[in-house]
Amino acid sequence: MQYPPHLIKLIETLKQLPGVGTRSAERFAFHLLSTNKEQLEAMGQIIAQIPEKIHCCPICGVFQDEKGCLFCQDPLRDKENICIVARAKDAFAVEKTGEFKGVYHVLGTLLSPMQGIGPEKLNLQKLIHRIKDNGAKEAVLALDSTLEGDATALYLRKELTLLGLKLSRLAFGMPIGSSFDFVDGGTLAKAFSGRGPF
Ligand SMILES: [Zn+2]
Repeated sequence: MQYPPHLIKLIETLKQLPGVGTRSAERFAFHLLSTNKEQLEAMGQIIAQIPEKIHCCPICGVFQDEKGCLFCQDPLRDKENICIVARAKDAFAVEKTGEFKGVYHVLGTLLSPMQGIGPEKLNLQKLIHRIKDNGAKEAVLALDSTLEGDATALYLRKELTLLGLKLSRLAFGMPIGSSFDFVDGGTLAKAFSGRGPF
């Protein structure tokens, strides 16, 4: 079976999304073929405007739009309590638990000696400045329960306890070897409320 070239291009484009295989991509593509021009243009515009509309907050690194950071700009958030996450999207996963009322800091990656990702790749200097400037007292390490997550947590413990910070790490409820991508909200909420000193 041969699809018209543009339809093949559409299917290949959709397959670039995580978790989308050929069959799902074909299903999405045929759905789009039956969608009217106005709706397609509106969808295309939302995607095309991503680089201009959504940025990382210059303070914490979480995604923000032109209205500013939902966390750093909120006077009700506790600036002395920082939840440290590897990726910007992890902050939203923690936020969904409703357990945390502080602010976030995105490291950008996890340490991985196997892949040559060393401490210099972590967004750490900005974090240290934030801790010193805001007088942060507590940090929660909300990192994957993987080898990379453990290596990063150990490294941060060494660096951050020097600053007199009280550290805790999510533990209870996080399955071993699990990434945030595969943890449901309930498990994460339990992990958050059951976090222990680290
Ligand atoms: Zn922010």
